[in-house]
Amino acid sequence: MIIDSHAHLNDERLFDKAGEIIAGFAANNIESCVIAGFSYKSSVLGVELAERYNQYALIGSHPEEMNEINDVILDKYLNLSKKGCVVGIGEIGLDYHYEDNPPREKQIEAFERQIVLADEAKLPIALHVRDAYGDCLDVLENMHRYLNNGVLMHCYSSSKEMIERFNKFDCYYALGGAITFKNAKKEDVIKAIPKDRLMVETDCPYLAPHPHRGETNEPKFINLTVDKIAEVLNMSRDEVSEITNVNTKRLFKKIR
Ligand SMILES: [Zn+2]
Repeated sequence: MIIDSHAHLNDERLFDKAGEIIAGFAANNIESCVIAGFSYKSSVLGVELAERYNQYALIGSHPEEMNEINDVILDKYLNLSKKGCVVGIGEIGLDYHYEDNPPREKQIEAFERQIVLADEAKLPIALHVRDAYGDCLDVLENMHRYLNNGVLMHCYSSSKEMIERFNKFDCYYALGGAITFKNAKKEDVIKAIPKDRLMVETDCPYLAPHPHRGETNEPKFINLTVDKIAEVLNMSRDEVSEITNVNTKRLFKKIR
């Protein structure tokens, strides 16, 4: 069965429906989901949901929220990381898309501090990277000695050539609904990801796959992403579900 490795059931659009959504998992070939934090507040909400419904959580501050990173918040994250449902630190990274995001130096500093946090917590990191793949490689290079628990490129959206460069850090790559878009042209990227490093996700409520593009995304739509991968790799839906399930549990070791 499929594990949705990145879902924002802690987003206000899905929070109230989380119980109902999770109740529908088995009927939709979903084993579990990982609720991804994007700020301290959303991380706490994600952990609450994960504990209530037997799911998993990532905790961390997204590049847009980097201004909240300080000693006090990092201490709180470290405490929270000890909970059984917390499987990684994320989503963290770099986002240079919007001009009003925190300045690049500030993003890099907060990103590096959360990489150190993950090493202290002995947990893998889940990265959000947008228009910043080059700088992200530099950060990983500089922080290499802290990368002892695994790296996931969440919603991987760069090129096949970039995969070769990120492979140096033994990265995992999660694909989402964007690969199903009509103009996606992601076949070469799907094929270039090492089979033992491939994962799937929804990033719901964002990025609903075709033909639901523009709607509120939900974990059940992950089957459309799995089917696209199956078509490109000439595999069955069950085979893709199985290999991505095994990969997700190898990276997120606390998932049972
Ligand atoms: Zn996300």
